[in-house]
Amino acid sequence: VFQLSVPLNFLGSVYRELRQSLLDMETLFSLQKVNVSIKEPADAKPLQLVKGGEIKFENVNFGYHSDRPILRDLTVTIPAGKKVAVVGPSGCGKSTLLRLLFRYYDADSGRILIDDQDVRDVTLDSLRRSIGVVPQDTPLFNDTVGHNIRYGDLAAPESKVIAAAKRARVHHIISSWPAGYETKVGERGMMISGGEKQRLAVSRLLLKDPPLLFFDEATSALDTHTEQALMQNINSILREKARTSVFVAHRLRTICDAELIIVLKEGSVAEMGSHKDLIDRGGLYSELWSAQETLFRDPGEKEVIVGDN
Ligand code: ATP
Repeated sequence: VFQLSVPLNFLGSVYRELRQSLLDMETLFSLQKVNVSIKEPADAKPLQLVKGGEIKFENVNFGYHSDRPILRDLTVTIPAGKKVAVVGPSGCGKSTLLRLLFRYYDADSGRILIDDQDVRDVTLDSLRRSIGVVPQDTPLFNDTVGHNIRYGDLAAPESKVIAAAKRARVHHIISSWPAGYETKVGERGMMISGGEKQRLAVSRLLLKDPPLLFFDEATSALDTHTEQALMQNINSILREKARTSVFVAHRLRTICDAELIIVLKEGSVAEMGSHKDLIDRGGLYSELWSAQETLFRDPGEKEVIVGDN
């Protein structure tokens, strides 16, 4: 049961900026996954990214229900300014990490620190402004394509919206539509493909330009060629700005260049290192890699995803 004062306060300026848009409250809630039990302390301070965005999980335990632990004593550091990948079997808790970091939920025990500040001690607004996510399934507003990108930065001029769409390799598609950036997403309905939706989500994130970036299966609906081209663009932006980025992906080829690969199994770290370290080690990652590479050479068969093993 939501009290009006809570979400308005919670969503602050975002809600005010969107006041007249077509977005209804229910969409807004599902989009933000507002959990009203999450509160900031009265003396909360804005998050200060003094170290450039280092993320630490310290002995974190978490379950959506008390009888089913999802993260088990998870301790891991995501170094500032690096490209990091999180892989592991389906259901091992990869997306849950992101939800805890964003404080959609709080850990049952342990701590999550960003640049040594506990996420529970900083203002929710500063926390969520510092983090940008391309989620598995991007919600689009019943509004124009331009607005859907601009949601990443409501004050952005059109030139910035177009620049973000170009880097996300979707500008040429939008330009080919008769109404261009004014095309209503709802009206095109089914005509926005999964891959286009993902690229709109990437555009939105690039426009927001947050210090910490998360890509949760962000390119899974793209063909290999488009995915590679988009990843090249994303990589060059990340390198140029030295941003902390975390990629969750099943297709290991998309993340094998990450500076650190964290392999999760049953809610804790099974192994971690670079692609080469993990292949040399001959553990879970190397098994998954071999299985996917075999299929890559023989594309006649269904692709194996991590977790089907
Ligand atoms: P995938 O690779 O399939 O996306 P994942 O590793 O990202 O999986 P999570 O989405 O973090 O896994 O989910 C971990 C476990 O928690 C799964 O078993 C999932 O069913 C369960 N789970 C996720 N969200 C909820 C929720 N809101 N309530 C209850 N259980 C949940």
